[in-house]
Amino acid sequence: MAFVITKPCIGVKDASCLEVSPVLCIASNENEEMYFIDPEACINCGYCEPVCPVTAIFDEYKMPSDQREFLKINRDFYLNNP
Ligand code: SF4
Repeated sequence: MAFVITKPCIGVKDASCLEVSPVLCIASNENEEMYFIDPEACINCGYCEPVCPVTAIFDEYKMPSDQREFLKINRDFYLNNP
């Protein structure tokens, strides 16, 4: 179980979530338009969810159904950037 960053982050990259994660499991790079959560490292603390100014972060089991593709998008970032 993990939290997931979804579509509203695209083009925003506010990065408030990075400051509150106790396990540093949120990352991006200069080629990407959003941040991603590493599902293998996330400890499901929930600290990041309320600090996002665009409500882009959800518990994977409570996320909007039209954002489900972001489960794979978050996971794939870490598979492609080990
Ligand atoms: S739920 Fe906690 S561990 Fe997971 S990404 Fe958010 S702040 Fe980091």
